[in-house]
Amino acid sequence: MESPTRKPTPSTSRLTVDAYAHGILSHDRVVLSRAITLVESLLSSDQMLSEELIQKILPHTGNSVRVGITGIPGVGKSTFIESFGKHLTSIGKKLAVLAIDPSSQRTKGSILGDKTRMDELSRDDNAFIRPTSSANALGGVAHKTREAILLCEAAGFDVIIVETVGVGQSEVSVRSMVDFFLLLLIGGAGDELQGIKKGIMEMADGVVITKADGDNKKRANQAKADYQHALHLFPPPTSGWTPKVLVSSAIEKFGLKETWEMIEDFKTFTASRGFFELQRVEQNKHWFHSSIESRIMEEIMKHKILIEKVKKAELQVEQGMVSPGAASREIVDSFIKLLTNQK
Ligand code: GDP
Repeated sequence: MESPTRKPTPSTSRLTVDAYAHGILSHDRVVLSRAITLVESLLSSDQMLSEELIQKILPHTGNSVRVGITGIPGVGKSTFIESFGKHLTSIGKKLAVLAIDPSSQRTKGSILGDKTRMDELSRDDNAFIRPTSSANALGGVAHKTREAILLCEAAGFDVIIVETVGVGQSEVSVRSMVDFFLLLLIGGAGDELQGIKKGIMEMADGVVITKADGDNKKRANQAKADYQHALHLFPPPTSGWTPKVLVSSAIEKFGLKETWEMIEDFKTFTASRGFFELQRVEQNKHWFHSSIESRIMEEIMKHKILIEKVKKAELQVEQGMVSPGAASREIVDSFIKLLTNQK
């Protein structure tokens, strides 16, 4: 597994767009890995290359099931993904795991840098594991992961798991780029402890209670009943799908087949109602809009004078002196003025 804290590869080691595309379409994982590094790069020359590459491989994308998996650290995500992933490859699926790693900024190292994480799966020929560091992602995590999903699809992976640690906005980002959103919970621990906000429960298409083995079995089954009940209290989701709750043990290896069946049922159900495609179309539109926002932000941050203004306005917003709306208007107005003066 490649370390997310790796040094940026100098742009001289870049391939041509055709070479990247050819490598990816021939299922060459080394090239796939290098292409993901390219799309994650902040260099503007790399970004141009990356956009060209994505455009080129676009006709070969869309043929996977995209699954987001979230849950607090310790809930058993990596152990679950390893066992679940092994189940998928055993039934002939080709699986890519993209792990969003928000920790590298805080801990310097990375929780995903741990080589033992998904060790068995990382040695499986039909699995590809790639941690995506959010440490230096200017355009936001979502931007890069979406591109990585498309690259993996073009490389022939038919299930893409996007893993995220349950912190901040990451679930919302991941929700906006996957077909099925799976929440992992532990039985017997309070909702507060698991950092579960109602909003996250509401986003889930399925819940898996992990570690349902040994002494935990009873608690897990109780939690299953509780969460199933709680989910019924939410307004029905637009998909029309009723979220399911399952129990699983990654150690005793049960609940894995059932998890995949749930995802397949979801796909069949939502595809028959047109929702599966519609959700992807909506997600693409959302991606387009947020790309415009982040491109404008990047352009703004190229000007020293505007960087200063943004910093100052940030402080004022923090102190409640200016509203975010007014502050952003001022920045954009200054940017337009600057462009007009440059003409
Ligand atoms: P993550 O931080 O969410 O990725 O969690 P990990 O997968 O690293 O698991 C956290 C701890 O829970 C580890 O010590 C695992 O061995 C343990 N664990 C994970 N899955 C299971 C399970 O199904 N049963 C039991 N008993 N322990 C588990």
